[in-house]
Formats: sequence, structure tokens, C-alpha cells
Amino acid sequence: MARIQWQLGKVTTIIQETPRVKTFRLQLPQWIPHLPGQHYDLRLTAEDGYQAERSYSIASAPEQTGEIDLTIERIDDGEISGYLHEGVRVGDQLEVRGPIGGYFAWHDGMADRPLFLVGGGSGIVPLMAILRHRSILGATNPTRLLYSVRTPEDLIYGTELQNLARQDPSFELVLTFTRQAPPDWSGYHRRIDGSMVEQEIRPFSEQPISFICGPTQLVESVANELAAIGFPPSVIYTERFGPTGS
Ligand SMILES: Cc1cc2nc3c(=O)[nH]c(=O)nc-3n(C[C@H](O)[C@H](O)[C@H](O)COP(=O)(O)OP(=O)(O)OC[C@H]3O[C@@H](n4cnc5c(N)ncnc54)[C@H](O)[C@@H]3O)c2cc1C
Repeated sequence: MARIQWQLGKVTTIIQETPRVKTFRLQLPQWIPHLPGQHYDLRLTAEDGYQAERSYSIASAPEQTGEIDLTIERIDDGEISGYLHEGVRVGDQLEVRGPIGGYFAWHDGMADRPLFLVGGGSGIVPLMAILRHRSILGATNPTRLLYSVRTPEDLIYGTELQNLARQDPSFELVLTFTRQAPPDWSGYHRRIDGSMVEQEIRPFSEQPISFICGPTQLVESVANELAAIGFPPSVIYTERFGPTGS
């Protein structure tokens, strides 16, 4: 297979998803269909030649041809995410390479298996690509998303997720707020823990495939919990975004 080349993508749209999160839509001259879950590498080059590179998951479904959406959280003191948020405008070009990654990817062949998605913060991004693609396919496999955010305003793709949950009886959205919950909230109001995972696995009549993505600590604790419940490693897919929790 040919080596994936760097290319210049043109920023056609920037969507402010939350106060700390923006989606950058890039039009790509050499667009390649991706699997939901895959990512692109993004490289910035300074005038003096200094380069820095980071990975960003693809948020869009592969049916969105010719372009990709990258949804990026601004990390405090973050070198690349800070620049993307402060310095990039519509019409700018960004150097990217992808799609990359074959392991953390949902294949159409999995569409008849129940699906348990667990995300923390921007860890929702590759899970959203799975949900968008699954919805376009019209898959009806029982699917549950357990999504942890700090506060209601940190909910990425909130309206889209809630609409999906309303329209698709096979999809269940379960939110947990780790810091501040909405007024009158009767759902979870803590970090994802073992008893929450156990509770959310219970409704599945058949063992689901699980995709877990977010801060390293969250991913490891959920994967360990699933393993303790008896999930074999072959049905637990993990992607770690960064070093911190909360
Ligand atoms: C496969 C893959 C896919 C990814 N997809 C996405 C995505 O879709 N959206 C997205 O926003 N990020 C994603 N990330 C994380 C992204 O690659 C960067 O790590 C992130 O944007 C921080 O880069 P930075 O240059 O801004 O921060 P840096 O300058 O690298 O780090 C600044 C400080 O923040 C800490 N830090 C670094 N990353 C994180 C983090 N994720 N959370 C909390 N603290 C952090 C560092 O330890 C350091 O102290 C992905 C990572 C991987 C490996």
C-alpha cells in the first residue's frame, strides 16, 4: 500500500462546539475514505523550521466525501491546540496526513453486534464518527453511549446526540456530569466508575463490543472494569488522548 502523504487541507468552516472546543472542517485534495475511529496527524511548521505534530480523530462519517471534520479541545498551555484555536481562520491551510490507525476502528462487519461506547470529554470525537456512520447505514444494533463531561456547557455535539437518541430506539445516550450537573438533573453526577459501568452494561442481552476513548485514566479504569466483568480483550478497543483525568 502507498505510504500516506502529507497534504495541505483548506479550512472551510470552523464550528464553536463548546467554549473550549472547535470543529475544523478541512477540504482535502487527496481525500481517502476512512473507517470511523481513525485519525489524522496534523503538523505545524514555524518560520524557523521547527515542527510539531499531534494526532486528531476524524469526527465526520466517511460518507462526507472530500473533507474531514477535526474536533479539537483547547488544552491549557497546549502548544498545538492553543495555536489552532487562536491562530487558525477559515481559508487557512493545515498540513495533515491520514487516515491512520487500523485498531481503534469500527467496521461495517461489526454492525450486527451490540455496541457499548464510553467517552470522556473530547474522547467523544471518534465515537461520534462511529455513531454518524452507523446512523447513515441504518444499523439497528443495540448501542449505548456513556459520555462523561465536566459541566453541561462542555457537552460536545449535545444537540445531535440528543436528537439521535430521540429518533433511534436502538441508541441510548447516558450522560454523567463530573463537576456541575444541569438543574433538576436526576442522572449520574460523578466520574465514571465500576458500578456505573456494570449498571450500563446490564441492559445488553448479548456481550457488546466496546470502544473507550478519552483521558488516559478514564480509558484504563473502564477497560479494567470490563475485563474484570469478563469481557475478553478482543472486544475492548481503547484510545488514549492525554495524560490527565477530570
Ligand atoms: C490517536 C489520538 C487521537 C486524538 N484525537 C483528539 C481529538 O479528536 N481531539 C482532541 O482535542 N485531542 C485529540 N487527541 C489529543 C491531541 O493529540 C493532543 O495531545 C492535544 O490536542 C494536546 O496537544 P497540545 O499540543 O495542545 O498540548 P501539549 O503542548 O502537548 O501539552 C500541554 C499540556 O497539556 C497536557 N496534555 C496533553 N494532551 C492532553 C489532553 N488530551 N488532555 C489533558 N491534558 C493534556 C500535557 O501533558 C501538557 O502538560 C488525540 C490523541 C491521540 C493519540
